[in-house]
Amino acid sequence: MAQCGYCKGPAGLWSKICKDCKNLLVRVGELRGRVGYGEFLSGLEQTGVSPEKIMVFLKADPDGKGSLQDQVTAEMANELITVMGLGERQTPEDVRRIRKMTKSEPK
Ligand SMILES: [Zn+2]
Repeated sequence: MAQCGYCKGPAGLWSKICKDCKNLLVRVGELRGRVGYGEFLSGLEQTGVSPEKIMVFLKADPDGKGSLQDQVTAEMANELITVMGLGERQTPEDVRRIRKMTKSEPK
């Protein structure tokens, strides 16, 4: 059995991602760029996956491109910045840096 790249749980025999995370990923694709963060999270909860697992999924970084949480937060921040007419776009890396500055996460 392969290990799921997101939650590290058991994935399918031919898959790098488990069923729950696959469902979440599909939902992320439907929601991102269209809703605010609160709606985004409740949309993910509608998949029936536990909130704990959703958080693990969002914080996972299987491709080293930044976690989904950071990517989505960056997209939302960019949208806000565009709407407000401010320049500078933020990357997931920036968001991660800002978050580290604003609150100390245990790690
Ligand atoms: Zn998984």
